[in-house]
Amino acid sequence: MSKYSLSTNEEQLLAQLLEEVKLNTRYFMGYPVSKDFSYAELMPFMEYPMNNLGDPFVPSTYAVGSREIEKEVVRFFAELFRAQADDWWGYVTNGGSEGNLYGLYLARELHPKGMVYYSEATHYSVQKNLHLLNMSNIVISTQDNGEIDYEDLENTIRMNRHMPVIIMANIGTTMTEARDDISKIRQILKKLAIKHYYIHADGALSGSYSALIEPRPAFDFADGADSIAISGHKFIGSPIPCGVVVAKKSNRDRIARSVAYIGSMDTTISGSRNGHSPLFLWYTIKKLGVKGLKERARHCLEVAAYAEQQFKAIGLPAWRNPNSITVNFPEPDIRIRQKWQLAAENSWSHIICMPNISKNQIDELVAEITAVKKQSLAPV
Ligand SMILES: *Cc1c(COP(=O)(O)O)cnc(C)c1O
Repeated sequence: MSKYSLSTNEEQLLAQLLEEVKLNTRYFMGYPVSKDFSYAELMPFMEYPMNNLGDPFVPSTYAVGSREIEKEVVRFFAELFRAQADDWWGYVTNGGSEGNLYGLYLARELHPKGMVYYSEATHYSVQKNLHLLNMSNIVISTQDNGEIDYEDLENTIRMNRHMPVIIMANIGTTMTEARDDISKIRQILKKLAIKHYYIHADGALSGSYSALIEPRPAFDFADGADSIAISGHKFIGSPIPCGVVVAKKSNRDRIARSVAYIGSMDTTISGSRNGHSPLFLWYTIKKLGVKGLKERARHCLEVAAYAEQQFKAIGLPAWRNPNSITVNFPEPDIRIRQKWQLAAENSWSHIICMPNISKNQIDELVAEITAVKKQSLAPV
């Protein structure tokens, strides 16, 4: 391809886009994405068509990939999420949504006549996935903090006791980072004597650091989850969206199908799979280790506590869920929302104190909100 080149215009366009991306990254506080990574050491891999076609645990004839590294990443999270030593499996996905889709797919194969229960604060992609899988489902109401309403859940399951129960639990909801308590959900199932059930944990937002904080929220395999999905580009950080899904190997075995063409098993949602993203996740996991990741989580929580306090200091009724890095506050002026890329719903907005957010940035945002407030209060 080297005898061809971009025109000056096209080169300019790229340069301009790069400047825009840099600027927008600087003012980016409303979505849960880490921006503090540096993967320069991995750049040589960008020269190769890395593809982890098929099941990571079954070798493929296609050998330009990172399966060994991918397995290490899955092992790391399986252990972090206290999966039974001989009964875990998983793969690096294209993101949390794919991991959730996978969990639901496994649940449906195990319980084709099951009813899916999930709270109204559940990520928007789940409804679409339920539609794709054609699964019956019921939305459960939430408490004010965004956590599932256990009473409504219990009453609703009671009315459908003849059907297997499939729970999509939120481990950090999109808007308020509320965590549904899987041990409480298990108690309800026990009380109602439900024999057939499946619990999937949507840990896209806080699954990866929930295992690193005290007190440890009830969300993992030891607490009763059957599968857990996380996003890799959120807490860990990756230039390409990605995620990890961990499930019980015994369940995955029920859907495995061997495919001669790839010399592997067709156990994943997509055929060709990103062979680069496992490298990014592996790199951060290895570099930081559990100790470094814990420190990373502690830092986020500290900045979140600081932000909550600073918002309150200027008279805003800010709040956050226990041990969460999402700080909720009344929706600010549209100019501020656009600049800092802040989502809003029902006149509430939030910032998410990802690892790269500093107290200085919080100060800057708070100063701008104060300035706009003064402006709008000034006599015309
Ligand atoms: C981000 C998020 C998702 C979707 O994950 P992607 O990685 O964007 O596909 C699902 N659920 C929750 C709670 C999330 O925060």
